[in-house]
Order: sequence, then C-alpha cells, then structure tokens
Amino acid sequence: MQHIINRFISYVTIDTESDPNSETTPSTKKQWDLANKLVEELKTIGLSDVSIDENAYIMATLPSNVNHDVPVIGFVSHFDTSPDFTGANVKPQIISNYDGKDIILNAEEDIILSPDYFDDLLLYKGQTLITTDGTTLLGADDKAGITEIITAMEYLINHPEIKHGKIRIGFTPDEEIGRGAHKFDVDKFGADWAYTMDGSQVGELEYENFNAAGAKIKVKGKIVHPGYAKGKMINSMYYASEFITILPRLETPECTEGYEGFFHLHNIEGDVEETTLEYIIRDHDKDKFEARKALLEKVVFDLNTKYESEVFKIEIKDQYFNMKEKVEPVMHIVDIAEEAMKAVGVTPLIKAIRGGTDGSQLSYMGLPCPNIFAGGHNFHGRYEYVPVESMQKAVEVICKIAELTAIEK
Ligand SMILES: [Zn+2]
Repeated sequence: MQHIINRFISYVTIDTESDPNSETTPSTKKQWDLANKLVEELKTIGLSDVSIDENAYIMATLPSNVNHDVPVIGFVSHFDTSPDFTGANVKPQIISNYDGKDIILNAEEDIILSPDYFDDLLLYKGQTLITTDGTTLLGADDKAGITEIITAMEYLINHPEIKHGKIRIGFTPDEEIGRGAHKFDVDKFGADWAYTMDGSQVGELEYENFNAAGAKIKVKGKIVHPGYAKGKMINSMYYASEFITILPRLETPECTEGYEGFFHLHNIEGDVEETTLEYIIRDHDKDKFEARKALLEKVVFDLNTKYESEVFKIEIKDQYFNMKEKVEPVMHIVDIAEEAMKAVGVTPLIKAIRGGTDGSQLSYMGLPCPNIFAGGHNFHGRYEYVPVESMQKAVEVICKIAELTAIEK
C-alpha cells in the first residue's frame, strides 16, 4: 500500500493547475514539471515508445505478450488540476483505518471533513484515506488516475504470467479547462478503444454524458438622462431579467438530477446600455438538447417581436456531445469493463455523467472512450479525498481489462 501512496503523493505535491485564460498548450508552464517527471518514470518502469510532444501530451506502450491478435486498448488520464481552487503546496494527510467520524483537516481554520455533510465517507470506514490540509485541493482528479495506470503497467510488467495485448497509455494536460482532448493525436495513439480513468466513486463506469452548448445573449438598451427619460430610455437590465424569467425556473442545475437537462445562467454583466447573459445548456438526449437551443432562439425572437426591435441578439455554440452515440455501437468495450470490475469484487455503478469528459471528445475523434472510476471524491476543492483501497481496486480493474481483452476466442 505504501508504494501506491508514495507514488500518488509524489504527483499531487507538484502544482499543475491549468488556466482557462491562457492560449498556450499546456496552459501553464508548471504542468511540464509533472509531465517531465512522468516521462522519466514511464521509462524507468520499462514501458516502450515513451514520448512527449510539444504540447506535453505523453504516450507510452506496454507491448503484447501473446502471439494471437488482440485489439489495442488504451488508458488515459490528465495531469492538470482545476483552476477552481489552488493546487499549490498540497500537503496530503493520511488517515489510516478511518473511524467514520469527523476528520479535522485544519484545526487552525476549523475546516472539517464530516460524514454528516459528505456521507460518502461512510463507505470507506476502516480504509486509508488521503485528504488535504484544508487549504488546497488534493488533485486526486486526476492524479489518482495517473497513479493507477502507471501502477497497473508496472504490475503487468512484473507479472508476465498475466497475458495481455498491446496497451497504450496517454496522459494529457488541460482537461480541467476543456482542452485535454484538443491536441490528442488519436492516430498516433493507435488504440481500438480506450478508457479514461477519471471517474469518482469506486465502481463508477460511464459511457453517457451531456450534450453541451454555450449561449451568449446580448441585450441592447438606450441610456438617456433619467430626468428626461420617459418614453426614451431602454434599460437593458430589465429586458434581460424578463428573458431570464421566461425560461423554466425548475430546469436549472440546482433543481435537476439524473437524466434531467438544464439551462444554467452562469454570468450576467450589465448596465443600462447593454446587458450580457451567459448560459450553458445541457441534456443527455439529443432531441431535447436541440429543443433547448431552439427555445432560447424562440424567446429571443418573441421578445424582439414584442418590442418591435432587435433588442436581443443570441449566439449559441456547441461544446461537446454525448459519447453514447459512439460507444453503443461497440458496447463490448463497456461490457469488458463491467466484467473486469465484477471479477475483482467491485460492484459496477453504471450511470450517466452530468458533465463531459475527455473521453466524450475522444469518442467523437474516433477513439471510443468510456470513463472508469479513479476513486476520489469532492473534486475541485478543499474537501477532496481519495481512499487508497479505491485506487488499488482501479489498478486491479485495469489489469483485469487487459487480461479479458486478450482472451482468445
Ligand atoms: Zn478529471
């Protein structure tokens, strides 16, 4: 157990926060610090074709150890951490034999990780948890995934009696700012399919995610001296608030779950002269997704008609799509992962992601790519933690998938 803990800690103590305002890849220079270390480590454990390109995308190969043809499979994770919370000076704490009670992350600032609020903790009673010291995120998202993939490859190298085909591994920068897949060279990777190790709770297996778009609505007003404004002033903020209230109030993130889609108003900026509303639109169902986009257009049209002028302008941009469409035709890749989990004593939790993953983009780039648990909880904040036992199970799942894929039929 200490080996996997040490490996994980050696990654999370290197700051790799990504930056959405940067145009470069990787978006922050510091991501190279961990990327370069990973390359060395992959060589040290004995993988071949270890490469890192000018954008810090890392790839490596574990060659097949059987003579028959086996599909090439891949495992992918990302080494950046979320810009939502600082990832500098991470000081992990190890809680052995967790007793199911409150964990004091930081006594000085009274920061407590409590099962009263985060009841998932109770799943891990008796296990070893790695937490933060309450002042940073942990970075289990997705350095747990990286830890698991490397540990699994090391295990397979040290246990040649386990038969497997060619395995490719890929580590990417900038997933947290939605660009992890952007410069991923799917041809160079050369796998028939892959798995991102980037889910949360032990057992998670996901091949459905949202269809996603962003909408920007600009509302034009007219500023006039307030004392002489009667019949002349148009206050764009009132028009904007009218727009907001027309949309279904209950179809928002805070009122939806499961397969329910939403409109999420995430930013308003405005004055009398101009107000801008920014929405994201999410739905698993392609038709409902299209209907949501059409509704926004219709509200804009109706309001412009009502005010007999082009007060509202809308721009909608698709962001990513549900990978289900690309995975369902090759459903055996999900079945193998499910079978692997059962074989190592993990109960599969198959559910739809309320978000996107690198895998959804990769699936549309020709690499079908479901998502498997990496084991962490409470991503992107100070309450993030990961049970070591979940990471160990993920290692077993990776090895078992490799083994099952290589069974001669
Ligand atoms: Zn992640």
